[in-house]
Amino acid sequence: MTLEAALALDAADPLAHFRDRFVQSEGLIYLDGNSLGQLPKATIAATTELVTKAWGERLIRSWNEGWIDAPARVGAMIAPLIGAEADEVIAADSTSVNLYKLIVAALRRDPARTVVVSEAGNFPTDLHIAEGAVAAVAGAELRVVERGALAEALGADTALLLLTHVHYKRAERFDMAGWTKAAHDAGALVCWDLSHSAGAVKVELNAAGADLAVGCGYKYLNGGPGAPAFLYVAKRWQDALHNPLSGWMGHAEPFGFADAYAAAAGMKRWLTGTPSVLGLGALESGLALWDGIDTAQVAAKSAALWNIFHAAGTAAGLECVTPSDPAKRGSHISFRHAHAYEIVQALIARGVIGDFRDPDILRFGLTPLTLSHADIWRAGEMLVEIVESGEYRRPEFAVRNAVT
Ligand SMILES: *Cc1c(COP(=O)(O)O)cnc(C)c1O
Repeated sequence: MTLEAALALDAADPLAHFRDRFVQSEGLIYLDGNSLGQLPKATIAATTELVTKAWGERLIRSWNEGWIDAPARVGAMIAPLIGAEADEVIAADSTSVNLYKLIVAALRRDPARTVVVSEAGNFPTDLHIAEGAVAAVAGAELRVVERGALAEALGADTALLLLTHVHYKRAERFDMAGWTKAAHDAGALVCWDLSHSAGAVKVELNAAGADLAVGCGYKYLNGGPGAPAFLYVAKRWQDALHNPLSGWMGHAEPFGFADAYAAAAGMKRWLTGTPSVLGLGALESGLALWDGIDTAQVAAKSAALWNIFHAAGTAAGLECVTPSDPAKRGSHISFRHAHAYEIVQALIARGVIGDFRDPDILRFGLTPLTLSHADIWRAGEMLVEIVESGEYRRPEFAVRNAVT
């Protein structure tokens, strides 16, 4: 691919105008939108208004002027991006906390089913939270196996199959319908972690027959650092499952001030404490960008960006660990190299921000709303130069930071 060809793709790109709706730093090519999405320009005004008017002037009255409904309203905006109905999704807490709620709820559904099955090498918090969740339910246990052994790990004792749809390191994507069916055939529920899927690939929870899901607000959804996460419970489970973190915001009547807990109907029961209004406001503004976007165009652009960067990485002699079939991956690309950390640092020094995942993975988020084909072409050129020239061997690039 030549720069001219990349520029021609940009000229014909139906999503090209979205780039200008995000704050861009001069000289920066940001390939980490899968870890912390960029700031939508509209979020600056929206959050300023939220702080100065709704908080500053309207104060407590704002709860009745939109704040109290924000978790459900924001959930309804996420629903179309994950193939769910508006009343099957709510925004709340962090992905970690939401995982805890759903895992414990799934374990308590049927006391004869005591095992949570998950994948070795899943995102750490998913396994850490699962460990804590099984410890909170008498007799429950966590079974973590390699991907190839997942099918045989499912059985009559399985309560829940817990999978991350798009792998955070390698970007491999599970067949959602196939694995949902495998869980159901064993009589178990499935919970999908959509952190690297929502806003990245077409997700069809209901079409796949999924039961439960969680996901992140600060990655492809551009909700800002530490944005509220979301959770999904299929309608058929909404009455049967209960939030173990039963708090007043999940009560049927929070302002009835009763001593005894009575769960709210629908998704509201998955709330625990007072929602993070400022976080929800920024997330809502990020989600507004997605209104009316054709996810097929997003997928097509993701594939085109991927092809450009894959060609560069391969030319640089890196080993690609992400599947080449677009249907089997997310929207990031990862390579393996013995000096992955140093190469990522050398790229950052040149204004190309990707990240490093221990022990030897270089990871690059290809976010179709914020990147041009020419950006990816230029980043690819720099990657080739850095590897071929040995520029990454400079001693300063070997110094380890706390966040990689
Ligand atoms: C980013 C990510 C999370 C993040 O969880 P937090 O509670 O927001 O820290 C969880 N799971 C996966 C798969 C992720 O990629």
